[in-house]
Amino acid sequence: MRSEIEIYDTTLRDGTQGHGISFSVADKLRIADRLDAFGVQYVEGGWPGSNPKDVEFFAEAKHRTFKHARLAAFGSTRRKDISAAADDQVQLLIAAGTPVVTIFGKTSPLHVREVLQTTLDENLAMIADTVRFLKAHGKFVVYDAEHCFDGFKEDTPYALATIHAAEQAGADIVTLCDTNGGSLPGEIAAITRVAREELRVRIGIHTHDDIGLGVANALAAIEAGATHVQGTINGYGERTGNCNITSVIPILHFKLKKRGVPVESLPLLTELSQFVDETANLRPNPRLPWVGATAFSHKGGTHVNAVQKVLSSYEHIDPGSVGNARHVLVSDLAGRGNIVMKAKELGFDLANDTAHLKTMLATIKDLEHKGYEFEAADGSLTLLIRRVLTGAPPPFTVDGYHVSMRSERGSSVCEATVKVRVGDQHAHTVAEGDGPVNALDAALRAALVTFYPHLQSVRLTDYKVRIIDSTTGTAATTRVLIQSSDGATEWGTIGVHENIVEASLQALVDSLECALINSAAGA
Ligand SMILES: [Zn+2]
Repeated sequence: MRSEIEIYDTTLRDGTQGHGISFSVADKLRIADRLDAFGVQYVEGGWPGSNPKDVEFFAEAKHRTFKHARLAAFGSTRRKDISAAADDQVQLLIAAGTPVVTIFGKTSPLHVREVLQTTLDENLAMIADTVRFLKAHGKFVVYDAEHCFDGFKEDTPYALATIHAAEQAGADIVTLCDTNGGSLPGEIAAITRVAREELRVRIGIHTHDDIGLGVANALAAIEAGATHVQGTINGYGERTGNCNITSVIPILHFKLKKRGVPVESLPLLTELSQFVDETANLRPNPRLPWVGATAFSHKGGTHVNAVQKVLSSYEHIDPGSVGNARHVLVSDLAGRGNIVMKAKELGFDLANDTAHLKTMLATIKDLEHKGYEFEAADGSLTLLIRRVLTGAPPPFTVDGYHVSMRSERGSSVCEATVKVRVGDQHAHTVAEGDGPVNALDAALRAALVTFYPHLQSVRLTDYKVRIIDSTTGTAATTRVLIQSSDGATEWGTIGVHENIVEASLQALVDSLECALINSAAGA
C-alpha cells in the first residue's frame, strides 16, 4: 500500500530568500505552471504583505487554472493587540484570492517575549484569531509553527498549546518548522511523534539545511507520521538553503515506496531542476543528488569496467528513472572501458580490444599530461574519437591569423585577421571585437559562414580560462574551455597552450567543427 505524502513547494517564497535568487513576476508564473504540470500539491507563490511584486503575482495568477496544484499565499498571524480584520497584512492574504493561505506563528516562549514583546496568552489568541478569520473567509489554512522544534525543547507544554490553538481554530494542516535548521533527525522524529499523538489534523514538516540535514530531517518527520512536506526545488533558500524537494520526491518514491507526485512525473525531475536553475539564471550544481550532471558519472577505471558489466553495480538507481543520464568521465584514471562507453555515448560502437582503442587511449593520456581535460569538453573528445575512427580530414583549416590591439580615445579595440581554407577554397577576413578572443571568434565565423551559413546560429555560452602548471613559475600553460550552443544542443571544447590566444583558437576551431558535425548528424 502506498500512502500519500503531500508536496508543498515554496521555491517562489522561501526559495527567493536565497543568495542570488531573484524572479520576475513572469518567471514566477512560468515556474508555478511547471510545478503544477509536474504534479506538486501546493505552490506557495509569495508573501503579499512583504513584497509588492508578490501582490502583482497573485493578481496575475488569479486568471490561471492549475491542474494539480493549489496556490498558497504566505503571511503571518495578526499583529498583537488588534483584530485579525484590522490587520492590513491579513487582509492582503484574503485579497490574494488563493484557495490556500499559509500563516506562521510563534511556538517558542522566548520569541513571544523577546521578538513579539507580548504575553504568551496574546500569542495564542493571535494564532487562533487569525486561523478563524481565514477559515471564515473560506480558506484552506496551513499553519506553520515557526521555531517549532526549538520551542518544544524550550517549553513543551507551551509549544503544544500553540499548535492546539491552531487546530482548534480550524487549521487544516499544522506544519512543524525547523526554522534555524539546526536540529538532528532523532529530535525531529521524537517531537513529530508527540505532535502526531496530540493532534488530529495532518502534520507537515518544513526544514532548513543549515547543518546539511534539511532532507534527512524532513524524512525523519515523515517516518514519524508527517504526511505533508515543504521545500524548494534544488534546495534554494536562505543561508545554506531549504529542504531540497528535488531529493525528497525521488526518495519518497524509490526508497520509501510512498506516493508523492504522479509516477509519470519522476522522469521529468532533472528537467524541472534545470528549468528552475535556468529561470533563476544560475549554473546548475553538478553535484546535486539525483539530478546533478555528475550524479551518475563514473571516473575510476575499475568502476567503469564494473558498470559496463552490471549496470546496477555502482549505481543506486537507474539514472533514467529521474530523467538523468549516465556519464563516463575520461581521465588518466580511466581504463579502456571508459573510452568504449564514452564512444557509445557519442554514437560509435567500439569493441573493447581494437587497435583504435589503444591509439585513442595513448592520445588522450598524452594530451592529459599536457594539461587537456576532457571532462567538460565532450565536443573535443568527440572530434578526437572521430579522427581516430574515420581518419576524415577536418572540414576546414586555419592557415594563419593575426591579432592586434590598439587604444582609441581611451577605449581599446582588438582586430583579428584570419585565413581559412575549405577544400581548395580560401577565405581571408577581418573583424573587430572587445578583446582578442572575441575578435578572433568574429573573424573566424565571418570566414566560415560563407561556406556554412548555419554556423550563424552557434553561440558561445561560456568561456573559462585557467592557468595550469603555475607552480613551475616559468612557462605556465593556459587551458581554455568553451561551451557552445546552437539552440538545440550544447557542447564543450578545449584548447591548451602557453599563449591564451592560441589556446582560445584551438577551442574555437573545435567548437565550430563540432557544430558542423552536429548539424550533419541532425540533417
Ligand atoms: Zn523556512
